[in-house]
Amino acid sequence: MIHFVGAGCGAADLITVRGQRLLREADVVIYAGSLVNPALLDCVKKGAKICNSAEMTLEEVLGVMYDAEEKGLATVRLHTGDPCLYGAIREQMDALEEKGIAYDYTPGVSSFCGAAAALNMEYTLPDVSQSVVITRMAGRTPVPERESVRAFAAHKATMVLFLSTGLLEKTQAELIAGGYGPDTPAAIVYKASWPDEKTVVCTVGTLAESAKENGIRKTALIIVGDAVRQSGYARSELYNPAFSTEFRPAKE
Ligand code: SAH
Repeated sequence: MIHFVGAGCGAADLITVRGQRLLREADVVIYAGSLVNPALLDCVKKGAKICNSAEMTLEEVLGVMYDAEEKGLATVRLHTGDPCLYGAIREQMDALEEKGIAYDYTPGVSSFCGAAAALNMEYTLPDVSQSVVITRMAGRTPVPERESVRAFAAHKATMVLFLSTGLLEKTQAELIAGGYGPDTPAAIVYKASWPDEKTVVCTVGTLAESAKENGIRKTALIIVGDAVRQSGYARSELYNPAFSTEFRPAKE
Protein backbone atom coordinates (compact mmCIF):
# COMPACT_ATOMS: atom_id res chain seq x y z
CA MET A 1 0.00 0.00 0.00
CA ILE A 2 1.26 3.48 -0.90
CA HIS A 3 0.17 6.40 1.28
CA PHE A 4 0.39 9.88 -0.25
CA VAL A 5 0.70 12.24 2.71
CA GLY A 6 0.73 16.03 2.92
CA ALA A 7 3.60 17.02 5.20
CA GLY A 8 2.27 20.50 5.91
CA CYS A 9 4.19 23.60 4.93
CA GLY A 10 7.10 23.47 7.36
CA ALA A 11 6.73 23.16 11.14
CA ALA A 12 7.05 19.49 12.06
CA ASP A 13 3.92 19.62 14.23
CA LEU A 14 1.73 20.84 11.36
CA ILE A 15 1.34 17.38 9.85
CA THR A 16 -2.05 15.77 10.54
CA VAL A 17 -2.42 13.15 13.27
CA ARG A 18 -3.23 10.61 10.54
CA GLY A 19 -0.21 11.59 8.47
CA GLN A 20 2.10 11.19 11.44
CA ARG A 21 0.67 7.76 12.29
CA LEU A 22 1.28 6.59 8.71
CA LEU A 23 4.85 7.95 8.89
CA ARG A 24 5.48 6.11 12.17
CA GLU A 25 4.21 2.85 10.68
CA ALA A 26 6.00 3.18 7.32
CA ASP A 27 8.71 0.77 6.14
CA VAL A 28 9.67 3.06 3.25
CA VAL A 29 9.46 6.86 3.15
CA ILE A 30 9.98 8.89 -0.03
CA TYR A 31 10.01 12.57 0.93
CA ALA A 32 10.30 15.77 -1.12
CA GLY A 33 13.61 16.88 0.38
CA SER A 34 13.61 20.33 -1.20
CA LEU A 35 10.70 21.55 0.94
CA VAL A 36 9.76 18.94 3.56
CA ASN A 37 11.17 19.64 7.01
CA PRO A 38 13.58 16.75 7.79
CA ALA A 39 12.48 16.95 11.46
CA LEU A 40 9.31 15.17 10.31
CA LEU A 41 11.40 12.06 9.74
CA ASP A 42 12.35 11.84 13.45
CA CYS A 43 9.29 9.66 14.11
CA VAL A 44 10.09 7.14 11.34
CA LYS A 45 10.89 3.71 12.75
CA LYS A 46 14.46 2.44 12.91
CA GLY A 47 15.52 0.49 9.87
CA ALA A 48 12.96 2.10 7.57
CA LYS A 49 14.26 3.04 4.14
CA ILE A 50 14.26 6.81 3.54
CA CYS A 51 14.63 8.32 0.05
CA ASN A 52 14.83 11.98 -0.95
CA SER A 53 12.76 12.49 -4.10
CA ALA A 54 14.50 15.82 -4.81
CA GLU A 55 17.37 13.74 -6.17
CA MET A 56 15.19 11.25 -8.06
CA THR A 57 13.22 11.03 -11.30
CA LEU A 58 9.59 9.90 -11.48
CA GLU A 59 10.80 6.52 -12.75
CA GLU A 60 13.13 6.13 -9.76
CA VAL A 61 10.37 7.09 -7.30
CA LEU A 62 8.05 4.54 -8.91
CA GLY A 63 10.82 1.95 -8.83
CA VAL A 64 11.14 2.32 -5.05
CA MET A 65 7.35 2.02 -4.69
CA TYR A 66 7.10 -1.11 -6.89
CA ASP A 67 9.97 -2.72 -5.02
CA ALA A 68 8.37 -2.01 -1.61
CA GLU A 69 5.03 -3.30 -2.87
CA GLU A 70 6.58 -6.59 -4.00
CA LYS A 71 7.95 -7.07 -0.50
CA GLY A 72 4.57 -6.23 1.08
CA LEU A 73 5.94 -3.09 2.76
CA ALA A 74 4.06 0.10 3.67
CA THR A 75 5.30 3.19 1.79
CA VAL A 76 4.67 6.84 2.63
CA ARG A 77 5.14 9.34 -0.20
CA LEU A 78 5.56 12.59 1.70
CA HIS A 79 4.75 15.76 -0.26
CA THR A 80 5.15 19.35 0.86
CA GLY A 81 2.06 21.28 2.00
CA ASP A 82 -0.94 19.57 0.48
CA PRO A 83 -0.18 17.33 -2.49
CA CYS A 84 -3.15 18.67 -4.51
CA LEU A 85 -1.29 21.88 -5.38
CA TYR A 86 1.72 21.61 -7.72
CA GLY A 87 2.37 18.18 -6.22
CA ALA A 88 2.82 16.05 -9.36
CA ILE A 89 0.84 13.26 -7.69
CA ARG A 90 -1.50 12.38 -10.57
CA GLU A 91 1.31 10.87 -12.64
CA GLN A 92 2.31 8.69 -9.68
CA MET A 93 -1.27 7.62 -8.98
CA ASP A 94 -1.86 6.76 -12.65
CA ALA A 95 1.29 4.60 -12.73
CA LEU A 96 0.17 2.79 -9.55
CA GLU A 97 -3.32 2.24 -10.97
CA GLU A 98 -1.82 0.75 -14.10
CA LYS A 99 0.01 -1.80 -11.95
CA GLY A 100 -3.03 -2.43 -9.75
CA ILE A 101 -1.25 -1.08 -6.65
CA ALA A 102 -3.54 0.34 -3.95
CA TYR A 103 -2.95 3.82 -2.58
CA ASP A 104 -4.63 6.39 -0.39
CA TYR A 105 -4.25 10.10 0.18
CA THR A 106 -3.98 12.09 3.41
CA PRO A 107 -4.20 15.87 3.00
CA GLY A 108 -1.87 18.42 4.59
CA VAL A 109 -1.72 22.11 5.51
CA SER A 110 -0.85 23.91 2.28
CA SER A 111 1.58 26.81 2.39
CA PHE A 112 -1.20 29.17 1.29
CA CYS A 113 -2.84 28.41 4.66
CA GLY A 114 0.49 28.66 6.48
CA ALA A 115 1.09 32.06 4.87
CA ALA A 116 -2.30 33.37 6.01
CA ALA A 117 -1.45 32.24 9.54
CA ALA A 118 1.95 33.96 9.34
CA LEU A 119 0.18 37.20 8.41
CA ASN A 120 -2.76 36.70 10.84
CA MET A 121 -4.82 37.17 7.73
CA GLU A 122 -8.31 36.29 6.53
CA TYR A 123 -8.27 36.03 2.73
CA THR A 124 -12.04 36.37 2.35
CA LEU A 125 -13.22 39.58 4.01
CA PRO A 126 -16.85 40.65 3.44
CA ASP A 127 -17.00 43.74 1.16
CA VAL A 128 -13.29 43.33 0.26
CA SER A 129 -12.91 39.97 -1.49
CA GLN A 130 -14.78 36.69 -1.35
CA SER A 131 -12.46 34.72 -3.62
CA VAL A 132 -8.90 33.47 -3.58
CA VAL A 133 -7.09 32.93 -6.86
CA ILE A 134 -4.31 30.39 -6.46
CA THR A 135 -1.95 30.53 -9.39
CA ARG A 136 1.64 30.89 -10.54
CA MET A 137 3.71 32.59 -13.19
CA ALA A 138 4.69 30.33 -16.07
CA GLY A 139 8.08 28.74 -15.55
CA ARG A 140 9.33 25.51 -17.04
CA THR A 141 5.71 24.41 -16.62
CA PRO A 142 3.59 26.59 -18.90
CA VAL A 143 0.34 28.21 -17.71
CA PRO A 144 -2.63 28.17 -20.12
CA GLU A 145 -3.01 31.66 -21.66
CA ARG A 146 -6.58 32.04 -20.37
CA GLU A 147 -5.19 31.61 -16.83
CA SER A 148 -2.48 34.25 -17.08
CA VAL A 149 -1.77 36.38 -13.99
CA ARG A 150 -2.78 39.37 -16.10
CA ALA A 151 -6.19 37.81 -16.85
CA PHE A 152 -6.87 36.89 -13.21
CA ALA A 153 -5.70 40.33 -12.03
CA ALA A 154 -8.77 41.89 -13.64
CA HIS A 155 -10.88 40.41 -10.81
CA LYS A 156 -8.87 42.21 -8.11
CA ALA A 157 -9.67 39.30 -5.79
CA THR A 158 -7.19 38.02 -3.20
CA MET A 159 -4.42 36.27 -5.16
CA VAL A 160 -1.84 33.80 -3.91
CA LEU A 161 1.10 33.19 -6.24
CA PHE A 162 3.14 30.03 -5.87
CA LEU A 163 6.48 29.35 -7.58
CA SER A 164 6.92 32.93 -8.73
CA THR A 165 9.43 34.53 -6.32
CA GLY A 166 12.23 34.30 -8.90
CA LEU A 167 10.16 36.24 -11.43
CA LEU A 168 8.96 39.21 -9.42
CA GLU A 169 9.78 42.02 -11.87
CA LYS A 170 7.64 40.29 -14.48
CA THR A 171 5.01 39.28 -11.92
CA GLN A 172 4.44 42.81 -10.69
CA ALA A 173 4.26 44.15 -14.25
CA GLU A 174 1.62 41.51 -15.10
CA LEU A 175 -0.37 42.25 -11.95
CA ILE A 176 -0.44 45.96 -12.76
CA ALA A 177 -1.15 45.44 -16.48
CA GLY A 178 -4.09 43.24 -15.45
CA GLY A 179 -5.74 45.75 -13.15
CA TYR A 180 -4.30 45.88 -9.63
CA GLY A 181 -3.12 49.42 -8.90
CA PRO A 182 0.58 49.70 -8.00
CA ASP A 183 -0.47 50.77 -4.48
CA THR A 184 -2.52 47.61 -3.89
CA PRO A 185 -1.22 45.96 -0.73
CA ALA A 186 0.86 42.81 -1.15
CA ALA A 187 2.87 40.50 1.06
CA ILE A 188 5.76 38.11 0.65
CA VAL A 189 5.79 35.16 3.02
CA TYR A 190 9.06 33.25 3.13
CA LYS A 191 9.10 29.74 4.62
CA ALA A 192 5.74 29.97 6.38
CA SER A 193 5.76 28.08 9.70
CA TRP A 194 9.52 27.26 9.53
CA PRO A 195 11.77 28.64 12.30
CA ASP A 196 13.24 31.15 9.82
CA GLU A 197 9.83 32.33 8.54
CA LYS A 198 9.82 35.91 7.29
CA THR A 199 6.92 38.16 6.27
CA VAL A 200 7.24 41.37 4.30
CA VAL A 201 4.24 43.61 3.66
CA CYS A 202 4.63 45.95 0.68
CA THR A 203 2.63 46.96 -2.39
CA VAL A 204 2.24 45.42 -5.83
CA GLY A 205 4.55 48.09 -7.22
CA THR A 206 7.33 47.30 -4.74
CA LEU A 207 7.21 43.48 -4.75
CA ALA A 208 10.48 42.91 -6.61
CA GLU A 209 12.36 45.57 -4.67
CA SER A 210 11.06 44.33 -1.29
CA ALA A 211 12.04 40.73 -2.00
CA LYS A 212 15.51 41.87 -3.04
CA GLU A 213 15.95 44.06 0.06
CA ASN A 214 15.04 41.09 2.24
CA GLY A 215 17.15 38.57 0.33
CA ILE A 216 14.12 36.43 -0.59
CA ARG A 217 14.58 34.47 -3.81
CA LYS A 218 12.60 31.25 -3.31
CA THR A 219 10.33 29.24 -0.96
CA ALA A 220 7.94 32.13 -0.69
CA LEU A 221 4.38 32.97 -1.56
CA ILE A 222 3.17 36.30 -2.89
CA ILE A 223 -0.20 37.46 -1.56
CA VAL A 224 -1.90 40.29 -3.43
CA GLY A 225 -5.12 42.25 -2.97
CA ASP A 226 -6.92 44.73 -0.76
CA ALA A 227 -7.53 41.96 1.77
CA VAL A 228 -3.84 42.19 2.75
CA ARG A 229 -4.74 45.50 4.42
CA GLN A 230 -7.16 43.60 6.73
CA SER A 231 -9.37 46.65 7.20
CA GLY A 232 -12.39 48.28 5.59
CA TYR A 233 -14.43 45.08 5.75
CA ALA A 234 -18.05 44.51 6.81
CA ARG A 235 -18.71 42.40 9.88
CA SER A 236 -19.98 38.88 9.30
CA GLU A 237 -23.69 38.13 8.93
CA LEU A 238 -23.12 34.69 10.44
CA TYR A 239 -22.38 36.20 13.85
CA ASN A 240 -24.70 39.18 13.50
CA PRO A 241 -27.25 39.14 16.40
CA ALA A 242 -29.98 40.46 14.07
CA PHE A 243 -29.88 37.33 11.90
CA SER A 244 -31.15 33.84 12.66
CA THR A 245 -29.09 30.88 11.51
CA GLU A 246 -29.79 27.17 11.45
CA PHE A 247 -28.10 26.93 14.86
CA ARG A 248 -29.09 30.16 16.61
CA PRO A 249 -32.24 32.33 16.67
CA ALA A 250 -31.89 36.11 16.15
CA LYS A 251 -31.54 38.12 19.33
CA GLU A 252 -34.09 40.95 19.81
N1 SAH B 1 2.02 21.48 -2.39
C1 SAH B 1 2.69 22.65 -1.86
C2 SAH B 1 3.22 23.55 -2.96
C3 SAH B 1 4.36 22.96 -3.74
S1 SAH B 1 4.99 24.04 -4.96
C4 SAH B 1 1.73 23.37 -0.91
O1 SAH B 1 0.56 22.97 -0.77
O2 SAH B 1 2.16 24.35 -0.28
C5 SAH B 1 6.35 24.77 -4.15
C6 SAH B 1 6.08 26.25 -3.89
O3 SAH B 1 5.21 26.37 -2.79
C7 SAH B 1 7.30 27.06 -3.49
O4 SAH B 1 7.99 27.52 -4.62
C8 SAH B 1 6.68 28.22 -2.75
O5 SAH B 1 6.11 29.14 -3.64
C9 SAH B 1 5.53 27.53 -2.04
N2 SAH B 1 5.86 27.10 -0.66
C10 SAH B 1 5.99 25.84 -0.21
N3 SAH B 1 6.23 25.84 1.13
C11 SAH B 1 6.22 27.14 1.50
C12 SAH B 1 6.36 27.80 2.76
N4 SAH B 1 6.54 27.13 3.89
N5 SAH B 1 6.27 29.16 2.78
C13 SAH B 1 6.06 29.86 1.64
N6 SAH B 1 5.91 29.28 0.45
C14 SAH B 1 6.00 27.95 0.37
